Amino acid sequence: MKKIKVLITSGPTREYIDPVRYISNASSGKMGCELSRAALKKGCDVTVVTGPVDIEYPAGVRVLKVVTALDMLKKVKKIFKNCDVMIGAAAVSDYRPSLVKKQKIKKSGKGLVVRLVENPDIIGWAGRNKNERIVAGFALESSDIAKNARKKIEEKHLNFIVANAPGVIGKDRTSIELIRQDGSSVVLKNTDKRIAAERIINEALSAF
Ligand code: C5P
Repeated sequence: MKKIKVLITSGPTREYIDPVRYISNASSGKMGCELSRAALKKGCDVTVVTGPVDIEYPAGVRVLKVVTALDMLKKVKKIFKNCDVMIGAAAVSDYRPSLVKKQKIKKSGKGLVVRLVENPDIIGWAGRNKNERIVAGFALESSDIAKNARKKIEEKHLNFIVANAPGVIGKDRTSIELIRQDGSSVVLKNTDKRIAAERIINEALSAF
């Protein structure tokens, strides 16, 4: 049987202000790592496009390293053409500086204004272009978790979304609500990320 090709985005992105400073977030890449492990265990062909992280992805996973959201989108566009499933687990920076200073910015004693522009929505691009593929994302919400997550399923044209709260960043355990297009959902409370990842991969592969 043909191997199912799974593409996962993982980790944070870094958006440079000057050669040494950047905007980023605390994403560890753990969820992306566990998703890649679970997909591998199911016999899939797995590619991870990852921002800078300290963790090691499982042997057998194809790992493509990127730094910025624009790099991530470029790599995703290449791999997406030939994939069956995409899961967006990366904590992509919503904004990037409108320009990257070539020299390290010096203190001026007057404060500093950095103009930010919005980054493209990577999983949103994938959702709009998914055709027969299964495309799923995550929604990190601090309030009205399920309501906001449902809105994102529509906006990003996803098959399902995994809603969670900011407290899970960098942790080994998580609490998730997997919400489908039809509004039905599965709740996993205080679960190891490895178990949550297996449930998410099972959901994505159930269509095949
Ligand atoms: O809109 P929000 O950032 O809450 O959505 C989270 C989901 O969208 C995650 O799956 C994340 O990987 C994805 N995302 C993305 N590109 C962005 C922002 C978020 O792929 N620029």
